[in-house]
Amino acid sequence: MFLEPGFTGQRSGWIEVICGSMFSGKTEELIRRLKRARIANQTVQIFKPAKDKRYDEMRVVSHDENSIDSLPIENSREIIVSAQNINVIGIDEAQFFDEELTEVCQKLAVSGTRVIVAGLDMDFRGRPFGPIPNLLAVAEYITKVHAICPHCGNLATHSYRLSQEQDTVVLGEKDKYEPRCRVCYEMGHILDLRIRL
Ligand code: ZN
Repeated sequence: MFLEPGFTGQRSGWIEVICGSMFSGKTEELIRRLKRARIANQTVQIFKPAKDKRYDEMRVVSHDENSIDSLPIENSREIIVSAQNINVIGIDEAQFFDEELTEVCQKLAVSGTRVIVAGLDMDFRGRPFGPIPNLLAVAEYITKVHAICPHCGNLATHSYRLSQEQDTVVLGEKDKYEPRCRVCYEMGHILDLRIRL
């Protein structure tokens, strides 16, 4: 459970990162924090990459269909333009944004905005994904959420790709990805290799 920092009297901004594998509840956690801020009459805006159109063009939709309105954008600089007079900014699927996102988030935080970023920390090869590693370095608060490995019941940290596609970005859901713990993730690759040989 993430506990928001206490209000100290002087309003300043900060960066929160919610990261983890696919099906770990990142978007649900982002929506939970944003809804709480909205209940407190804070102005809220959510951005997501325009390329992620899996569910709905204008809304951030988590896997349990708990949704919230969002603005699809092409690049991270557009966030600065659209963020005037907004108290809390949410950025979903942040791994798909350009590297400039880190600088954009820092500018917003300095100007007094609470910035909540959600995204995959690793791609399907287990490598740090897009701007997420840099954001983890500069964030004030980090929450790593986990899925459950369907093979052994341990906490899942990796996104295992079930299909044979090799591009880093292949949009998909349960048809293409499975959350796995470290051991089942590695075992899957060894088994795949044996099948292909
Ligand atoms: Zn496992």
